[in-house]
Parts: sequence; structure tokens; C-alpha cells
Amino acid sequence: MSEPDVMSSSKKQFTLKNLPPLRKASSYPTGCPATYDYIVIGGGTAGCPLAATLSLKYKVLLLERGGSPYGNRNVSYMENFHIGLMNMAPDSPAQAFISTDGVINARARVLGGGTCINAGFYSRASSSFIQEVGWDEDLVNKSFPWVEEKIVQWPKIAPWQAALRDGLLQAGVAPFNGYTYDHVSGTKVGGTIFDETGYRHTAADLLAAGDPNNLRVLLHASVHRIVFNSRQGRLKPRAIGVQFTDENGRHHHAFLNNNKDSEIIVSAGAIGTPQLLLLSGIGPKNHLKSHNIPVVLHNKYVGKGMADNPMNSIFIPTRSPPRQSLIETVGITEEGVFIEASSGFGQSSESVHCHHGIMSAESRAQKIGQLSTIPPKQRTLEAAQKYAQNKLNLPKEVFHGGFILEKIDGPLSTGHLVLTDTDVRNNPAVTFNYFSHPQDLNRCVYGIKTIERILKTNRFSELSADGTGFSMERVLNMSVQANVNLIPKHTNDTESLEQFCKDTVITIWHYHGGCHVGKVVDQHYWVLGVSGLRVVDGSIFSRSPGTNPQATVMMMGRYMGVKILRERLGREAGV
Ligand code: FAD
Repeated sequence: MSEPDVMSSSKKQFTLKNLPPLRKASSYPTGCPATYDYIVIGGGTAGCPLAATLSLKYKVLLLERGGSPYGNRNVSYMENFHIGLMNMAPDSPAQAFISTDGVINARARVLGGGTCINAGFYSRASSSFIQEVGWDEDLVNKSFPWVEEKIVQWPKIAPWQAALRDGLLQAGVAPFNGYTYDHVSGTKVGGTIFDETGYRHTAADLLAAGDPNNLRVLLHASVHRIVFNSRQGRLKPRAIGVQFTDENGRHHHAFLNNNKDSEIIVSAGAIGTPQLLLLSGIGPKNHLKSHNIPVVLHNKYVGKGMADNPMNSIFIPTRSPPRQSLIETVGITEEGVFIEASSGFGQSSESVHCHHGIMSAESRAQKIGQLSTIPPKQRTLEAAQKYAQNKLNLPKEVFHGGFILEKIDGPLSTGHLVLTDTDVRNNPAVTFNYFSHPQDLNRCVYGIKTIERILKTNRFSELSADGTGFSMERVLNMSVQANVNLIPKHTNDTESLEQFCKDTVITIWHYHGGCHVGKVVDQHYWVLGVSGLRVVDGSIFSRSPGTNPQATVMMMGRYMGVKILRERLGREAGV
């Protein structure tokens, strides 16, 4: 197949006027006779570019459980980042969950997925990651720019981010790599999906690069089961359709056409994809039976190998409140610890005790509702109440500054995901086992010591209240008191950095895994043991790509779309 056939439509001018209609799932007629070449489950970071690309040649149905990002101020404006994460409404674009570790977390529930609720930082995967996963480098190098020219910008660097850049360099995290999307050691300024006015561009925008005549998008369409044809004589059960509910709770079915090349692609994210495979009968048989789910295929690995990059953060009260900023500058150390920062999210009296930006956790714990259903290691009602009470007693100045945070790359500590019930709207129980591997803990300590070096630089000393610098003991103490998770604290938190790391661990929301290559999917992301079913999203990763993952997840959606089109069109042309 010649390249222009797949790429040509993307050359037309990119404008949001070409978005397909975004309709509610209730508009789908009962007993709808339409069938599709591709059904994509999850209109998120990978699902949107994938569906748009496939629609250039074939009929595609995209089913997203959340609503539209357009017109939602919490999604669209950077200044509302933390408020959006705090929204506990059942239709909030951010669905909170608490891992059994006691760490408060969030997953997307909106067209555009994680790109609608994230911190916007954009950085490509390294070339070693691309080689490791076996992607075609030429196609990768075409797919990243396809995303970038539509929705990525360079930030107008905020003062706090400029301070971090200088502090990192003074502390020896060198060289300075300037503005770059590349994942390279040293200090850099990366891309962002926020434009200079703070307006967010998302993966949903990428749908405008598809063919609106071939692309049907349904919002508030929660897929609760993939339907298989397990007729006797078939070697493998074949995925042929899906069952979903609309915003009124009414049930619908949608089916693939009879073409042998048609497929269902699950892009429901690292929590949603293993959850949906389990609900559809693919997973450990005893676990499925314990929930009365008919077993389609026993696979003990579904939901295994879940990992979350641990993040620990230091709160830095400054002389004058810095301007708001999310991640723009990053220090990438050879030790696999990344240093990032955010600022200015705690300046209103409302947000001091309720929200504090990237750290926002607060009384979410009580509102998530999981507390009453499963007794986890650290997730008791008592813990949450104590946590909420402590929040009211926090010193105001804690939040009148910025944060410097450290993230561990490629954590060796892993966990698992299991169902708590069979309602797809509820969160499964997820365990990440943060710092259960000693190397992760050592790297956290290294990261805190790097932040200490940054705080000792002239660049940061001048930001302190009296201009003489920050006492590490004081900032560690404040960071412990900031009470960011449900993990019990210890008296030696500020003396032992190991204890500090364990007790103040939070998430940077880069969780991944649950459907690993070679265990749940093959290297082309076909689900092992069944046919007609693939997974394309962060659940297939054994480590989170790049400095931060969204660039590679969007790229992967485009990449897999082009790859699938090339292969299918090639077969149809008999080549
Ligand atoms: P998602 O984007 O979550 O897509 C899954 C989609 O599937 C969702 O829209 C969901 O609603 C839908 N879905 C799930 N189940 C079903 C179902 N049963 N039926 C129908 N639809 C379903 N990364 C960066 O690179 N930079 C950052 O600055 C950054 N900051 C972050 C901040 C936050 C608060 C969060 C949450 C993430 C952040 N990330 C960041 C991580 C990044 O956004 C995610 O890794 C990425 O978006 C995950 O993409 P995905 O396609 O795997 O899943």
C-alpha cells in the first residue's frame, strides 16, 4: 500500500470544525442495524487518535463512558486543574480512587481521557524505549509530529519553573538541553498541551483529523461487556460486539460487521482495560467465578504487574506567592529520578484548606465511597476522618509557595488489580506496593537529596522569607504535615528519609500495566487466546514512557491506527 493513501487525509487543514458530532449514547437506536469495521472502547489519550485514523478508511464506533470536554471550564483552563480533580460528582471528568496502599489517585472519565485532566506536560519516549517495545522508528517519527502540530505548544515559562531550571543546573543536573520534546539526561523545558492563555488542547481535538462520515462517537456509553462468539468448532472465542449502557442506564448492543478483519480495540486505560477484560470473562478463572462471571478464557495475568511511579513532594513556602504553573521544567538524572515542580495553587483562602493543586487530596477520601466497601491496608474510615481533620489544622504558609517533586522512573515495585464488584462504573481495587523494592526506596532518597541541593542554591535561597535559604528540616516537616495520603505517619519522618519517602508517597498519575505484552497481549497487542480483540493504551506498558507518558500514548494511538490500516489495505490489495 502506498503511504499517501493513509496519510493524505491528514494533510487537509486541521480545524476543530471537522470534529464529528458528539452524541449522547441514548441517541443510539435500540436494535440499531448498523455494524462497524472497528469498535474502539474508550475515547481517551490513545482511543481518540486511533479512532480518528481508522475512520479515514473504515466505519468506526467510538464508545466513551464520560461526557464532552468542550465547554467544561475545569477541563479547559489550567487554573482549574486542582478544582477539576476535586470534583466528586458522578459525571466528573476525574473519577477518584484510593489504592489499597492508601494513596489517593484519579482516572479520567471524559472524551479525551487523561489529556483532559492532566498537568499537560509533553515529552516523547526515548529511542531506547521505542527499540525495547519494537516499534517501527520511521512510523514513530511520523506519528509524534502528527500529534504535536495539532495540540502541542512550548510554554511561556513561569517564574517558578525558571527558578527550578536554574536551581537544577546550579545543583549539577546538567547539561541544559533547552526546549525539547526529547527524553534526555540533564535539565530541559518540555512541551505542553496548554496554550499561552492557559487553554487546554486535548486528545479529543484529534478526532477532527478523522473522517466525520465514518466516525460515530457516543458519549456516556459505558461498555460493561465484550461479546464473544464461542461457537463449537471455533479455535478461539471471537470478539464480535459490545454491550453498553447509556446515560439513562438503558442497555444497548453494537456489533462488528462480518468482515474477518474487523476488530474491537480496548483503549479504556490502565484501570479500565483490565477491569473490562475481567468483566468480559478474560482473567484468572477463580477470581471470575468468585464474581459469577462466565469464563471465556482463563488468563492469570490479567490485572497483574500494575505499577505507579511513586512521587514525593517538598512544600516550599516562599516570600511572595509565585504565579500558578504546572510542569514545564524537568531535571532527568542518570539515577532514574526525575525532578519536576508546580506552583501557586493554594493562594485563595478557599484552596488553602480544600485544594492544593498537584497535591490535592483532601476530603476526597471520604467522598469516593470505596471506604465503606472494601477494607484495604490503609483505607479505613478512621484514617480518612483523621486525615480530613488534620487538613483543617494546616499552617497556611505551607501552601503559599510551590512544590518541587521527584518521580521514580521504572519502579521495580509492582502490584495488581482485582474486581470489587461487577459494576463497571465502580473502581476495581488496585494495589501498587510503592517502595516494596529497596531500589525504588534508594532512588527516592536520592531524589530528596537532589531537591535539598536545589534548595541550597542561590536561586532558591533568594525566594525564602528572609532571603537566607530554607531549612531542610522545616520543609520536610511541613511536607509530612501536609497530609497528602492516608498512610500513618511516624515520628522519625524527618530524620529518616526512607521513612519520609514511604509515609509521604503520592502519585504523579503515571500508573500503567495490567495487560502486559507476552502475558495478556502479543507484540501486536492482540489479546492472547481470543481473536478480533486488541488493547491499545497504557495498560500494555511495563514502564511508563518518556519523562511523562501522554505524548507516547497519543502517538501510539496514531501509530497503531496507521499500522492497522496499512496491513489491512495491503491484504485487501493482495500485497
Ligand atoms: P485514558 O486517557 O484514561 O483513556 C481511557 C478512556 O477510556 C477514558 O476516557 C475513560 O473514560 C474511558 N473508559 C474507561 N472504561 C470505559 C468503559 N468501560 N467504557 C467506555 N469508556 C471507558 N502525563 C503526561 O505526559 N504529562 C502530565 O503532565 C500528566 N499529568 C497527569 C495528571 C493527572 C491528574 C493524571 C490523571 C494523569 C497525568 N498524566 C500525565 C498521565 C497521562 O495523562 C495518562 O498516562 C494517559 O492519559 C493515559 O492514557 P490512556 O489512553 O491509557 O487512558
